[in-house]
Amino acid sequence: MAALGRVLAEPIVSRATIPPWPNSSMDGYAVRSTDTNGTVELAIVGRIIAGAMPSRALGAGESMRIFTGAPLPEGADAVVPQEDVAADGDRVTVRGRIAPGAYVRPAGEDVRTGDVVVQPGGVIGAAEVGLLATLGYSQVRVYRRPRVAILSTGNELADLGTQPGPAQIPNTNTYSLMAQVIEAGAEPINLGVAPDQLEAIIERVRWGLRSADVLVTSAGVSVGELDLVREALERSGAELHLWQVSMRPGKPITFGTRGTQPVFGLPGNPVSAMVTFELFVRPALRRMAGAHVLDRPRLRARAVEPIANPGSRRGYLRVTLREEAQGYGAQLTGDQGSAILRSMVLADGLAVVAPDTTIGAGEAVDVIVLRSLEPRTR
Ligand code: AMP
Ligand code: MG
Repeated sequence: MAALGRVLAEPIVSRATIPPWPNSSMDGYAVRSTDTNGTVELAIVGRIIAGAMPSRALGAGESMRIFTGAPLPEGADAVVPQEDVAADGDRVTVRGRIAPGAYVRPAGEDVRTGDVVVQPGGVIGAAEVGLLATLGYSQVRVYRRPRVAILSTGNELADLGTQPGPAQIPNTNTYSLMAQVIEAGAEPINLGVAPDQLEAIIERVRWGLRSADVLVTSAGVSVGELDLVREALERSGAELHLWQVSMRPGKPITFGTRGTQPVFGLPGNPVSAMVTFELFVRPALRRMAGAHVLDRPRLRARAVEPIANPGSRRGYLRVTLREEAQGYGAQLTGDQGSAILRSMVLADGLAVVAPDTTIGAGEAVDVIVLRSLEPRTR
């Protein structure tokens, strides 16, 4: 069970043929299809229950009582369901021509010896667990989860468990980001909160780079005089590759590397931090985790009301998705302010809208799906 949700690191090759023999998919009578035509009476010469082998082969003019999952006797090639026959003592009357293969599950219809049933890079779900058990695997090789260090920065942050001072706000991002790391199949390491002081940030950044595969910071990456994260990353040996992306929410964002370690400096507003994590950090973590599929699913939805994205940046707007007669309807969750985390709680997805564009009511819009679309109460 420990493999559930993990990424497979080896191909799963079937060591067996499943089912190993042709078997019945109904309770009924095993017959030779060539014996049937018009109305025929067949002798009942045996009884095969699931878990038992037939005592002998089936000859011409013969049938055997058979139950679901029981192996077909040699010579039989079809099953007539019990509700379609008249049985009387040791004789059964079958009407009509029975097609060869009727109600028979052929040997190997599920898997054959040597089949690659799951490729490396696939995520192990409940069905894969079932198939692995069927094939006799009690252990499989999976990829190691990437370790991701999370650092929040800001003098104004009071961490969980401490009373916020008069000018302080609770630390949100450490926890939403740690949760996103876990949802991405990686392992978070909490570096806590650093104040807006260069040396203090550098110290935590170095700690993170020593203990994790990836470093993610939040806040302190815009252009204010207390925005020290970029300098702290550089002073810790990271090479920075970019520090702005034309998107909303989330324009200030830093990406760099220190050797092979990716370093992401995300913005501080809670929604911006979550959205930039989705778009930049999550695919990187999926790749590092060995997964084939890096991106969330996208769908085309119908805008229930106009969805406006004024301004020169590409918009990622929080929307709910509701099932309609055809496809899904997308509706803004309300105020799109980047500090309004509640809108993220309401959101099923992010509508992707080009700069200076309004999607009219009824028009199609691309939506990145953030969660499973089960009906839910909010
Ligand atoms: P900054 O990029 O440092 O200017 O931060 C942008 C906004 O995000 C400010 O209003 C910060 O107070 C807020 N913020 C920064 N870090 C966090 C955090 N960890 N939790 C909640 N809000 C934060
Ligand atoms: Mg700040």
